[in-house]
Amino acid sequence: MTENPRFDVPANYIDGEWTAPSTIARAEVYDSNTGSVIGSAPLSSSTDVDSAVVAAKRAQPLWWALTGAQRAEHLRRVARELEARHDRLTQLITMEVGANQEIASGSQTMTPVMSFDIAADLAETYDFVEVLGDNRIVREPVGVVGAITAWNFPLHLVTVKAAFAIAAGNTVVVKPSEIAPLTAAVFAEALAAAELPAGVINIVFGDGAGVGEAIVAHPDVRMISFTGSTRAGRRIGEVAAQKVAKVALELGGKSPLVVLPGAPLDEAVRFGVNDILLNNGQRCDGFTRLVVPRADLAEVERIAGEAMAERVVGASSDPANQVGPLASKAQQERVLGFIDAGVREGAKLVVGGPGAPELPEENRSGYFIRPTVFSEVTPEMTIAREEIFGPVLSIQAYDDVEEAVQIANDTEYGLAAGVFGKDDESALEVAARLEAGMVTVNGGAMDILAPFGGYKQSGIGREFGRYGFEEFLEVKAVRLPGGNAAATV
Ligand code: NAD
Repeated sequence: MTENPRFDVPANYIDGEWTAPSTIARAEVYDSNTGSVIGSAPLSSSTDVDSAVVAAKRAQPLWWALTGAQRAEHLRRVARELEARHDRLTQLITMEVGANQEIASGSQTMTPVMSFDIAADLAETYDFVEVLGDNRIVREPVGVVGAITAWNFPLHLVTVKAAFAIAAGNTVVVKPSEIAPLTAAVFAEALAAAELPAGVINIVFGDGAGVGEAIVAHPDVRMISFTGSTRAGRRIGEVAAQKVAKVALELGGKSPLVVLPGAPLDEAVRFGVNDILLNNGQRCDGFTRLVVPRADLAEVERIAGEAMAERVVGASSDPANQVGPLASKAQQERVLGFIDAGVREGAKLVVGGPGAPELPEENRSGYFIRPTVFSEVTPEMTIAREEIFGPVLSIQAYDDVEEAVQIANDTEYGLAAGVFGKDDESALEVAARLEAGMVTVNGGAMDILAPFGGYKQSGIGREFGRYGFEEFLEVKAVRLPGGNAAATV
């Protein structure tokens, strides 16, 4: 696990072939643990997007003409090929993203396998036709889907889109993040090994300006499924609106975890600290704000400070380390900027803060920051409002439950929220008042079959399971003469 497997992605993956890009420009990829270059990927252009869309458009009717069971068989083969590449993918993710071994070898690499298996089940069992009175309601694929993704879960974000889109009969043009593109190249290898028909999934490497916008604007791309910042999501919405294309947007978050009076404080606060450290805080749905009774503030600070300080920070290649680096120098600088803002605007620093943690020599150029807890964070502070995307927790105090709900909802985002109460019933009452697409009650876990997505500026649409699958379908009402709709279904 320690050798540096320099990996230069040779080309784009178009129409089932590695296809040389039209440009010579490349994006370098860095090991976030050391700052050294570990590979590169093409920075392609709109010409390459055109080739990929032609391939996807040609493949789509043939792919949709297969039975659901045939598509499912292909999807399951991809799942097995991804499984076979688990160790290599894990290693790349620890380097590209800084994810620790547990996350890199767990959810980062296993969720993609599950996505293909679950999508296969849907392809096989989903009822594409239903009868509604005299009409037959038929679900059909949208056509060619553009999938554009962020770097924090680089393989999962690509596969959750590609798997469900193709299960529904679409074909796809993927643009992975230029910050963490390497696992997408291994995914292409898996597609080739699985002999997925040519053109069903195409991968074009590049950045947002050169490739992303070209995918969004392309007249033959009928839908864009995007995961990334709200800033880029807004721009994608604008461009897609020009051709009135469907968009599904998975954007940022500033999610609150509300601890109600009488809740088990130690359990709730430790849950919050664990959550903010998952993937080193590089998560859109992380509980970045801990909203607690003012009477318990001192105790919450003590528990959170201790829980955070217990964590071992260090290189993600070593399984003993619990918190790794951030994915890029830019992200490290951004998070340090937020920590400075917290100090400058008067939040109380409980643990962590500016500067780098203690590290061995070889990791001092890595993108590490000190896991940080701020308390006495007030609603107008930058760290209460903006998405930080790092291991930084803000504690906000409230005087009564009314104010807790108000603080929790006082954000332009609405991706996730959490509530801890003395029992499920009291927590559920508050959960019903939170403006978020996903609400965790008393530490409840995510179910991969449940819809994932947000309210407000956290996005449009849902991913995962049946809800994610249905995003990729059009709905056609077929009007038949009275009584005939059910005749041949
Ligand atoms: P980003 O918006 O900078 O980039 C995301 C992707 O969009 C990249 O592939 C980028 O090249 C591309 N892109 C950028 N501008 C574009 C444009 N104008 N047109 C087309 N493509 C464009 O985001 P990031 O820094 O890679 O990721 C971090 C963000 O992603 C955070 O805000 C995080 O909350 C969000 N995110 C959301 C979810 C979710 O499910 N809601 C999941 C993971 C990450």
